[in-house]
Amino acid sequence: MQPKKNLDLVNVLFLVGSPFVAVSGVYLLFHLNGPAWQSWILFAVMMVVTGLSVTGGYHRLFSHRSFKANPFVRLFFLLFGAAAFENSALKWSADHRLHHRYVDTDQDPYNIKKGFFWAHMGWIFYRTEKNLSVVTDLSSDPLVRFQDHYYLPLSIAFGFLLPTAIAALWGDALGGLILAGWVRIVLNHHFTFFINSLAHTLGSQPYSDRNSSRDSFICALVSYGEGYHNFHHSFQSDYRNGVRFWQFDPTKWVITFLSWIGLVWDLRVTPRAKLMKARFEMQEKRFLSKLSQSKWEMPKWKLVEERVQKFRSELEEAYLKFEKARSDYHAFKKKGSYHLKLEEIKSEYRASKEEFKLALLQWKRALSQELVLVV
Ligand SMILES: [Zn+2]
Ligand SMILES: [Zn+2]
Repeated sequence: MQPKKNLDLVNVLFLVGSPFVAVSGVYLLFHLNGPAWQSWILFAVMMVVTGLSVTGGYHRLFSHRSFKANPFVRLFFLLFGAAAFENSALKWSADHRLHHRYVDTDQDPYNIKKGFFWAHMGWIFYRTEKNLSVVTDLSSDPLVRFQDHYYLPLSIAFGFLLPTAIAALWGDALGGLILAGWVRIVLNHHFTFFINSLAHTLGSQPYSDRNSSRDSFICALVSYGEGYHNFHHSFQSDYRNGVRFWQFDPTKWVITFLSWIGLVWDLRVTPRAKLMKARFEMQEKRFLSKLSQSKWEMPKWKLVEERVQKFRSELEEAYLKFEKARSDYHAFKKKGSYHLKLEEIKSEYRASKEEFKLALLQWKRALSQELVLVV
């Protein structure tokens, strides 16, 4: 039997009340003289800084340990993460690790199977026990413990007092409090909440359909790149969410930049061949399930299945060969080794690229049924 859940009145009041405070505050501001232009800039800066402290700090650094960071970076993420009013990093990470471990089940704190609203914010309305057994590694970090202990005063100081004090410098303390305080908190709340609701509802599943997570550009746009959630659930320790170069993932860009200047290091990256294998397998699964609905008789169907699997394994093999040739070539080039050998490796690399292109073409034809149906 499920334990009886108790409403957390403070959370309910804050989550339901904060949008009203924000809207009335903005109305009041415009009713007076309107906010100063500097306050709009402060609002934007606070949005990005607190948003990235949650996505880069709470999520990718603390919950997933997908890179290591200098104490100043950790402290920055903890202070401005607190300003997002989404709980301490310790509690946030505990909930999040449970979400990954038990996704789509009753033990998942924001289980999407209980409905969009529940996953979005309903779950926060109820009191839950702090399950620290899943975050023992984080409890040993004195900075994380400090933020957990002083969470409320830190949130108020960095979430409200700081923007108010900064905006007071140009004589618009109220503008700072409303825009960079209340409005920013409400927006960042719902942008984060969308990852648990929208990113488990809307979008594609290129890597896996074993859980409800989805990749969605729209979701990535409002969540500093966290919307590629299907990738993230498949490879959760990767520091990237938008793994392809054209995908919108500002959190990844910031982490990469911080690594260039030595403030973070040991960025965890999933081998490319593993990503491609997951994509090909998913394409195969989807294709076969679509084809199975056409009610083929068994002997023919077995043949089709075997043929698709053969094309996929050829494609995977060609990709592995291409990947190896590419990394050999780049490693050799970096060493500045002698010319003749380099030329040889370069031509091997080119040949493997062509082979992979051919295998990919064959795969696309197979998926469009041209090859597999000739039985
Ligand atoms: Zn998720
Ligand atoms: Zn995660």
